[in-house]
Amino acid sequence: MAFAVSDELLGTFVPIAVYWLYSGLYIVLDGLGMDDYRLHPKGEESKNIVSKWTVVRGVLVQQAFQIAVSLLLFTALGDESGTVRKQPHALHHTLVVPYAFGALYNHPLEGLILDTIGGALSFLISGMTPRIGIFFFSFATIKTVDDHCGLWLPGNILHVFFSNNSAYHDIHHQLYGNKYNFSQPFFVMWDKILGTYMPYTLETRKGGGFEARPVKLNQA
Ligand SMILES: [Zn+2]
Repeated sequence: MAFAVSDELLGTFVPIAVYWLYSGLYIVLDGLGMDDYRLHPKGEESKNIVSKWTVVRGVLVQQAFQIAVSLLLFTALGDESGTVRKQPHALHHTLVVPYAFGALYNHPLEGLILDTIGGALSFLISGMTPRIGIFFFSFATIKTVDDHCGLWLPGNILHVFFSNNSAYHDIHHQLYGNKYNFSQPFFVMWDKILGTYMPYTLETRKGGGFEARPVKLNQA
């Protein structure tokens, strides 16, 4: 049992394991019904123009890139961690009804440039240790998967602490909303600063569940 895994290796692979475990939990919840808590009624995912398997394959490619870049970084820099989370872009927007496991679904090149480099920079600039990196990137992974879970569950502690949440990000995934609510995964500050903040109300949907509705704002 003397085999020791480095924090750098853990920082590379733990967030990926967390990604599939946490989104797997939402797949299980989805299978249990949850009709009272959905942001989109069941069956509406037929509006998504890609299949679930395409999403899974896309995410796996993305994570393969992350692993490759992360390991390259360690080799080049000695002790840096370059693991990652997602930001939304064109391919990501094929999901009008987000899937938890689709949080990382994106074009590999965009993911590589924006997220892998973004993740590596946040690691380098903040000066966090590889061990802290394991927790930070795992938490960021949990948060971004949660933002794509498509549910508004009572007692979700992430909803208590973050106004950036599954309803906020659902707006971003709608056809009318893809120029708004970009900020991911923690705060809404940049949307407010850059004028892309779309307020919304969370309304009860006839037939069960909820709907995030944008508030039309014309005050400049
Ligand atoms: Zn998204």
